[in-house]
Amino acid sequence: MKKVLTTCGYCGCGCNFYLSTDESGITGVHPSLNHPVSKGMLCSKGWQGHGFVRHPDRLTQPLLRQEDGTFAPVSWDEAYASIVRGLRNSIQQHGPSSFAMLSSARCTNEENYLATKLTRAVLGSPNIDHCARL
Ligand code: SF4
Repeated sequence: MKKVLTTCGYCGCGCNFYLSTDESGITGVHPSLNHPVSKGMLCSKGWQGHGFVRHPDRLTQPLLRQEDGTFAPVSWDEAYASIVRGLRNSIQQHGPSSFAMLSSARCTNEENYLATKLTRAVLGSPNIDHCARL
């Protein structure tokens, strides 16, 4: 059995815990006693929130919508190239306010900060929001 220190991915509080693992996968959750946010405690999502890791419906690679409306698996390079093409076309044709970034409560504070910087400072759009407000 192994114990791996990690950050809860369910909200921006960023509580830490150890996941115990063996060859069958994740076998337990143990709060980090000295983490400055969680201080040895977790909410119910933190205790139970690892089920998605091996869920059969979990997306494990990018999917790109095809002309017939279906989705096909593509590489990360193809997915990023498609995103860049779409953003570039939108900004060139309609200006930087033509798109919006929706970030996530499951991102860390640092990831949400970077999403804000990318949207506002790099791409020039004021339109960024967060799924907790939707
Ligand atoms: S344990 Fe609860 S409060 Fe802490 S990061 Fe996870 S979801 Fe947020």
